Amino acid sequence: MTVNERRLLPLVTLLLLALLVATLAAWVLDRVNREGGTADQQRRTEDVIHWKMVTTWPKNFPGLGLGPENFARRVKEMSGGRLQVQVYGGGEIVPPFGVFDAVSQGVAEIGHGAGYYWTGKVPASVFFTAVPFGFTAIETSAWIHYGGGLELWRKAYAPFNLIPFAGGNSGVQMAGWFNREINSLEDMKGLKMRIPGLGGEVFTRAGGVAVTMPGGELYTSLQTGVIDATEWVGPYNDLAMGLHEVAEYYYYPGWQEPGPSLEFIVNKDAFEALPADLQSIVENAARVINQDMLDEYTARNNRALTELVEVHGVKLRRLPDDVIVALRTAAQEAVEELAASDPMAAEAYASFREFYDGVKHYHRISEQAYINARDLEADPGQ
Ligand code: CA
Repeated sequence: MTVNERRLLPLVTLLLLALLVATLAAWVLDRVNREGGTADQQRRTEDVIHWKMVTTWPKNFPGLGLGPENFARRVKEMSGGRLQVQVYGGGEIVPPFGVFDAVSQGVAEIGHGAGYYWTGKVPASVFFTAVPFGFTAIETSAWIHYGGGLELWRKAYAPFNLIPFAGGNSGVQMAGWFNREINSLEDMKGLKMRIPGLGGEVFTRAGGVAVTMPGGELYTSLQTGVIDATEWVGPYNDLAMGLHEVAEYYYYPGWQEPGPSLEFIVNKDAFEALPADLQSIVENAARVINQDMLDEYTARNNRALTELVEVHGVKLRRLPDDVIVALRTAAQEAVEELAASDPMAAEAYASFREFYDGVKHYHRISEQAYINARDLEADPGQ
């Protein structure tokens, strides 16, 4: 060993030792991380709450059926995966109209649908969904969240062990698809139209014949002449359904559903079993979906309408004034009879009516006045 080599020996030894210490430290750190990670994962697997959501829509149905999917995604993200909601389409666990009972009985923890499907059990539910010639989407949401609507809705559903939340809105719908032109009230006489709920009742009072059938049967029924007309939702959904292939005329405005609110219904026991932060996440995710769905419809409806008219040659028509006036008169009678039939419906109607009169007055000088001003033609003489 030379002198130089002898001098280098302590340095090399020191370097080797340092390397050994670093390797050991890395190994120890890795073990700690692994064990910590496993324990954390294990704790989280134990803590995760799984909910089933039953819906009245086909799985991933545009607009209406995407609301539940978006809700599930947002709840999972906001809770860091602690609450996971599995969405089932209509018919997968229970039939579409079995959602109310399924959630009420705890077969599923949560459901998504429209309140007017359960009018037979809860007559007041019409007021929380859609009243013909009633609220627009903005007005519906305002009444529910700031006008006392939600408290009444919860009161109406409490006997069924359910807590409702507003769950989306399509905005003003279309009056529907007709295979013949409607030029006056006379053309409505005996017309067979698929139109559910209170809208159907009103249509019958105005001289038509209302028929109820699931969405899946509309296309064939219209094609084969079983019905002369049908309403569904609006351009975005109706285009997807292909209704323009079986009817020539597309009428507006959707007097029967001017701002229908969908709903999330949660089993009360399941909701109360959640920690406070997850309860808040459920409530806030529903609130987001309520607005988000309206935004999606607003964005997509006009694009779909343009395609229907410009590509598919659909004839867009406004319902004649005498038809609108007759329907509105019939709607007033039908709503008052419904309210008189049930104490809870009467209570909901009183609150609805008071808010309606006020907001209608205010919207005349705000929303309505602004839209009229925006569309006002300049006087060519000026
Ligand atoms: Ca409809």
